[in-house]
Parts: sequence; C-alpha cells; structure tokens
Amino acid sequence: MSADPNCIFCKIVAGQIPSRKVHEDDELLVFHDIAPWAPVHVLIIPKQHIATMYDTDERHTAMLGRMTAMAPKLMRDLGVTNGFRIVVNTGRDGMQEVPHVHMHVMGGPRPWTKG
Ligand code: C5P
Repeated sequence: MSADPNCIFCKIVAGQIPSRKVHEDDELLVFHDIAPWAPVHVLIIPKQHIATMYDTDERHTAMLGRMTAMAPKLMRDLGVTNGFRIVVNTGRDGMQEVPHVHMHVMGGPRPWTKG
C-alpha cells in the first residue's frame, strides 16, 4: 500500500501520530477531526496515499462508494440521527489543507458553522 512519509494522514494510518479512531478496516480509516466544525466531525480516509480527488478515477469507484455508504451508519453509531453533511475539499481552490483524500462527515445539534 502506497504511503507518503511526509503526509500527516499517512502518519496517522501508520500509528506514528495518535488519532481518536472510530473505524478501521483493510482499506479505510475513520477518526475524529482534531479541530471539529460540528459537535460530531469525523474524517474518512483511504489508507493508501491519494493526494486529491484529482488523483482518483474509475478504479477508485468502489472505495469512494464505500466511504460514502458508511457515513449514515457512522453517524447513527455516534448518536447523530437528525442529519449530517459530507464535504470533500479538493485542491487549493477547493480549500484542501491536507493533501491526502478525506471525507468530512459532520453532524449534531445546530447551530454550527457551515465550514
Ligand atoms: O479539508 P481540509 O484539508 O481542509 O481538512 C483537513 C482536516 O484535517 C482539518 O479539519 C483538520 O482539523 C484535520 N486534521 C486532523 N488531525 C490532524 C491534522 C489535521 O484531524 N493531525
């Protein structure tokens, strides 16, 4: 599995930087965002290093589908039953700060910022 030694999320995958893990399987890791925008804010990331959505194509369809499909269960398990948002920032103009694909999943009682 490809990893970038300078990537902060690859370091989280490798256990070199601690995270509050919610879910882990062969392909994906889910952990609480360190600076949440909402009462519940997790990041779903692929374990392999993929810098941005521009680096994905049809070969990643199943993985990207799994990321989206697991969001409702994750939110329910974390007590979020009144709705949530999914955000995937992509590239500089897409306000992506960490260059490793990640899906923000955010919910919980409002008000909270739209990010
Ligand atoms: O989409 P964007 O790249 O801006 O989001 C990166 C997210 O990664 C931020 O919400 C930030 O709080 C989170 N982060 C984290 N743990 C780290 C570094 C960044 O949860 N160690």
